[in-house]
Amino acid sequence: MAFNETVHQLGTREDNLRAQQEVMEKIFNVIEPILVVSEDNPNEILYTNEMAVLRFGVGEGVVKTLPPVLSDIFKLPPGNLEHQIQDMAANKWYGVLVYTLSWGDQHNARIFYCRDITAHKTRESTLTTAANTDKLTGINNRRAFDRAFARQWEACARTRKPISLVMFDLDHFKRFNDTYGHPEGDKVLVHFASIMRQCVGRKDDITARYGGEEFIAALPMTAQENAMALANKICRMARQRPVLIRYQDGNAIEVTVTASSGVSTVIPTEDIEPSMLVQAADHALYQAKAAGRDRVCFF
Ligand code: GH3
Ligand code: MG
Ligand code: MG
Repeated sequence: MAFNETVHQLGTREDNLRAQQEVMEKIFNVIEPILVVSEDNPNEILYTNEMAVLRFGVGEGVVKTLPPVLSDIFKLPPGNLEHQIQDMAANKWYGVLVYTLSWGDQHNARIFYCRDITAHKTRESTLTTAANTDKLTGINNRRAFDRAFARQWEACARTRKPISLVMFDLDHFKRFNDTYGHPEGDKVLVHFASIMRQCVGRKDDITARYGGEEFIAALPMTAQENAMALANKICRMARQRPVLIRYQDGNAIEVTVTASSGVSTVIPTEDIEPSMLVQAADHALYQAKAAGRDRVCFF
């Protein structure tokens, strides 16, 4: 009698456990996060929820070739730190937490808890781009320039290579604004930025709007003659490409806006600051203005 009672109780308990397990599985299969459990040596996947199958295309069992994103995820160490992993192929980002757990006879199994953070990363990168871009011209702003210039300065200091700065200031721009209006002045700034973009093209070169009608380019690994040649090319283009101004009555005129430029070059050493090169370019620019504008000077 007692024996039958025990068997009955065990049966009920087993039914309860099975029911509980089904509930848990249902929960794991409807939640957004991806769950993957693997062996310590991850050639066998011990468990995946449905989201994992959907996103990574893998199920439980031995996997011959892991998708690259999962292979990256499996390399992450366990701990409370969330890692950010990019799935290049699917254009997604995942925030991944890794924990160690016992899974049957596997005492060092890993559970990978991955949530899709793509929207967050996109928002973050849009904000970063906006913080570094000049709204009007679409090129770098001063903040972005200062950071990138500091990096290039360090690189040139390490390799003992020259770095050049080319600074531009539009000539008589106040007069242009006063004559044609501020919105037309804005178009000139966009026009000049596009000339700079066309002329400054090496991978590590940095082009930026430095202030109101001032522009700057930093040219790592570039000697004085080459920087001067580039500055001259940009000034020549500004001179040769007038801006079209349309009047409301349908008439249009072409107006040339020239630029003056100051160039400075140095091989960075410990006793000079990046700001000193900016000051030197600024000084050269002042000389170009004093000498009659629409020209390039070197300091
Ligand atoms: P210089 O040849 O000596 O450089 O003369 P300048 O008139 O260009 O110099 P100044 O510094 O006196 O004037 C700069 C002008 O640039 C004044 C300002 O109205 C104009 N400016 C600055 N930022 C902007 C802008 O974002 N849009 C427009 N349209 N004009 C701007
Ligand atoms: Mg100015
Ligand atoms: Mg000016």
